[in-house]
Amino acid sequence: MELPIIEPFKIKMVENIYSSTKEQRENWIKDASFNLFNLKSEQVCIDLLTDSGTGAMSDKQWSAIMLGDESYAGASSYYKLKEAIKDITGFDFFLPTHQGRAAENVLFSVLVKEGDLVPGNSHFDTTKGHIEFRKATAVDCTIDDAADPISWHPFKGNVDIKKLENLLKTNPSEKISCILVTITNNTAGGQPVSMSNLREVRKLSLKYGVKLIIDSARFAENACFIKLREEGYADKEIRDIAREMFSYADGMTMSSKKDAIVNMGGFIGFRDEELFRQASTYNIIYEGFITYGGMSGRDMNALAQGLYEGTEFLYLKSRINQVAYLGSKLKEYGIPSLEPYGGHAIFIDAKRFLPHIPREEFPGQTLAIEIYTEGGVRGVEIGALMADRDPVTRQNRFPELEMVRLAIPRRVYTDNHMDYVAAVIRNVFERRNQIKKGIKINWEAPIMRHFTVRLEKL
Ligand SMILES: *Cc1c(COP(=O)(O)O)cnc(C)c1O
Repeated sequence: MELPIIEPFKIKMVENIYSSTKEQRENWIKDASFNLFNLKSEQVCIDLLTDSGTGAMSDKQWSAIMLGDESYAGASSYYKLKEAIKDITGFDFFLPTHQGRAAENVLFSVLVKEGDLVPGNSHFDTTKGHIEFRKATAVDCTIDDAADPISWHPFKGNVDIKKLENLLKTNPSEKISCILVTITNNTAGGQPVSMSNLREVRKLSLKYGVKLIIDSARFAENACFIKLREEGYADKEIRDIAREMFSYADGMTMSSKKDAIVNMGGFIGFRDEELFRQASTYNIIYEGFITYGGMSGRDMNALAQGLYEGTEFLYLKSRINQVAYLGSKLKEYGIPSLEPYGGHAIFIDAKRFLPHIPREEFPGQTLAIEIYTEGGVRGVEIGALMADRDPVTRQNRFPELEMVRLAIPRRVYTDNHMDYVAAVIRNVFERRNQIKKGIKINWEAPIMRHFTVRLEKL
């Protein structure tokens, strides 16, 4: 018989999981204004809020921490990280930052000005925040298939080349800050972008003289999907695929808290020394001197090691396999979720789960609250609440997809935990007709409201 795919690691240290009663959770979520970000971690049993910074570091990463060099300038940890980044991405120049949004802040301080357009494939929420904060506009050019929760497309994160070229053709290049391609496309459901799509986008970027930047948080998972799904890549190493992806870009922003499996960190990669020089000034103001930029030496060491571990095929295969395991369990129970399954998360389709709750009552958030109350599983709404209001009209935006994301931390939970999660959601699914009403907003911040919003049950 064919041998199963196993995790290429074993467990050396364990951490307690907290259990609670349904009654306790009902009180806690009420005290948290029905915002799952307000819960204490002890009030959560299985935490699938995010895969960001929640991964388990390896023994090699922890030992690299002991060798950290904390010199202010020119630390050996900086050079170690520089070498790893050059090796894995091919970029000659880089700046460390404390996390991914800090990398966006520094790079966009150079590239994005008021009135600009930033076309791309469903920009990440902080990315959009940084663009809109500068009074520029993020233009979504993702393929239409991405908005269809059931169509099977191997690369649903792709950029629609026609939409992109139309925008580039009808606007002066000075008005386009850059083209921003996010791999994998988190907002569209952790969906990958194909190599041939990246190549096409590169052609347009050269033709119209606009820089191409890759938002790279899950670049290794993207590379793994290319290896598994795209013709001509089955026999290629993940790192060769990654280098080819980055070869089409002028730069990258990275949240190291995802595929580099560290708890904190980020960086910017540059091909061009001039852009690196301009960004360095902002790095010094916002982050720290250019050889540490918001990171400790020890953390740069762990990151350098994590970049190698995160690009191991056996690890990536077992991870993508675990995500699909949860997806197929839910499917077995008849629970609607986004397909094909993403690289880091399962996205439950709240519109089909709670079709009787109107969009204005936020069915995604309503479902996330129910899943938490049922079994202490914390996911996150990716729908109208997160989409926030239009910056000009201030009206609520209602994106095509209304979802609850269950993001799986790297190397943290077992398949038994996934069985538990699936059972919790099944119980909610079986009583879905008793969930009669959604929620309403009591208070919201001017932008990025979902992090701090206060809600009330209707
Ligand atoms: C997480 C993430 C960011 C922001 O990174 P942080 O480290 O959370 O600041 C940006 N883009 C994408 C695609 C991400 O997943």
